[in-house]
Amino acid sequence: MKKTTHQPVDAAEVPRFAGHATFMRLPAVPTAEGLDIALVGIPWDGGTTNRAGARHGPREMRNQSSLMRRIHHVSKIAPFDLANVADVGDVSVNPIDLMDGLKRIEDGIASIVAAGAIPLAAGGDHLTTLPSLRAVARSRPIGMIHFDAHSDTNDTYFGGNRFTHGTPFRRAIEEGLLDPKRIVQIGIRGSNYELHEHGWALEQGIRIIYMEEFVRRGVEDVMAEARDIVGAQPIYVTFDIDCIDPSQAPGTGTPEIGGFTTREAQAMVRLLEGLDIVGADVVEVAPPFDIGGMTALAGATMMFELLCVIAAKFR
Ligand code: MN
Ligand code: MN
Repeated sequence: MKKTTHQPVDAAEVPRFAGHATFMRLPAVPTAEGLDIALVGIPWDGGTTNRAGARHGPREMRNQSSLMRRIHHVSKIAPFDLANVADVGDVSVNPIDLMDGLKRIEDGIASIVAAGAIPLAAGGDHLTTLPSLRAVARSRPIGMIHFDAHSDTNDTYFGGNRFTHGTPFRRAIEEGLLDPKRIVQIGIRGSNYELHEHGWALEQGIRIIYMEEFVRRGVEDVMAEARDIVGAQPIYVTFDIDCIDPSQAPGTGTPEIGGFTTREAQAMVRLLEGLDIVGADVVEVAPPFDIGGMTALAGATMMFELLCVIAAKFR
């Protein structure tokens, strides 16, 4: 029996530029009760070490997500028919207190998990993924597929500060939220602080697929290995928009040239179908550095790609 699910506002009835901006023109709902997948904003960039602005990401991704339609053109997945999806708004944030900010984000995502829904979040900087993992991986360590120019496994910044957008995954491993042997990082590149920058991550067993290896092997080979590593157990998928080349996604705080095309990023995410995704996010979209909304559009579209592979679980 077909279940009743929320549907986007029909663009043939109300044009895309009209009305309230919600993720993918879905209804705005007060809680995740009754949802299968909750689209949520995390407008917080208190972990940013260089160019701030990702706090404005959710609002612009909502705006650009008005361009999404109902059916994925390759997989034919119709996410809004398979799953009950809506926009639950933004989590509560505190822009002037980092530790309180992390607590509020964790509480917000935990309320989605408690309602039985899968969170698909729009950041925010990459430190927001740490409290999200605290909420979704509370009971057991999970795996992770991580698209990024950066490993984000550094230890401290600025004299012992342990919480920045360059450290979330070291903290998550230390806290037992992630099983490092089930983590794959894809697209890593750029200059390093130290010769053995990723030594700690590699020692934990994280599989780092640098951009140069990706270029040699291609999308399908790399994603086949990534799927093998994470296996059938629960995973989180985190998509840092700076994995895409700044020529296609300039609106981000820590751009690195030599990145993925949006087409490569889409092809990779499509190959996540069938994995047990228990949470996902698109982070580091910083509208103050964007040009004509192109980075927010890339972020919103990657959210739609992620939504489709998550919704496939409900077939
Ligand atoms: Mn990152
Ligand atoms: Mn990054």
